[in-house]
Amino acid sequence: MAKIFCVANQKGGVGKTTTTVNLAAGLAKVGQRVLLVDLDPQGNATMGSGVDKRQLENSVYDVLLESATVAEARVRADKCGYDLLGANRELAGAEIELVGLERREKRLKQALTPVLAEYDFILIDCPPSLSLLTLNGLCTAYGVVVPMQCEYFALEGLSDLVNTIKQVHANLNPQLQIIGLLRVMFDARITLQQQVSEQLKAHFGDKVFNTVIPRNVRLAEAPSYGLPGVVFDPSARGSLAFVEFAKEMVERLGKL
Ligand code: ADP
Ligand code: MG
Repeated sequence: MAKIFCVANQKGGVGKTTTTVNLAAGLAKVGQRVLLVDLDPQGNATMGSGVDKRQLENSVYDVLLESATVAEARVRADKCGYDLLGANRELAGAEIELVGLERREKRLKQALTPVLAEYDFILIDCPPSLSLLTLNGLCTAYGVVVPMQCEYFALEGLSDLVNTIKQVHANLNPQLQIIGLLRVMFDARITLQQQVSEQLKAHFGDKVFNTVIPRNVRLAEAPSYGLPGVVFDPSARGSLAFVEFAKEMVERLGKL
């Protein structure tokens, strides 16, 4: 049975999509069966998996509005080694259309239930907001992976997310927990980053993943080739770190 994880942080540009596609590819590389769900109307995870968001026959939008099943809407991200439930701009409208509907925050959870046995991991790339879309992700997830840059305001920004997770845990999804904080775009030469990294460990203890993802230009270049860095340039430092992170996730899961 698949374990479902949201990659979430309400800030934009912190590395959510990069983490989702590379973790998905890393997990596939170590033999896990993976479904990536793109829950961001920007569709970056879709494009970054080599699937043209404008050409999608069905997307996660259709799944949320129940005009397609996951089995109908998913596609194979061939070179990446995982399945993809894609997104495009249409999804921005779902936010409004869902408001008036029943079970609006549980739609994704219901839709994923029939395919759980087909995967080991389902990874959800969340949009940069604590919206109804993110809420759908959090309501179905077993845990949240939070990518963050070790910068001055990092901790401050985290409190909104932590509060939202607590509320969802209390009211909607009792299994939800933060699986871990992932330090991304890390540059060990910058003293401030080391300091914030230490603060994170002091605050959150073993909720901070051991793996650190370095700032690495190959990870930033990969999306323009429609590939996760892990596939585009497997020997790049950033790619090696993401495969290491995939192994850490598998290991952590075994202990949960
Ligand atoms: P988000 O999904 O949170 O908005 P992205 O994953 O799209 O963030 O990352 C924002 C930008 O930073 C992108 O241009 C991406 O290529 C770049 N980026 C992300 N992680 C790294 C990294 N480890 N090294 C270098 N660039 C990165
Ligand atoms: Mg993104």
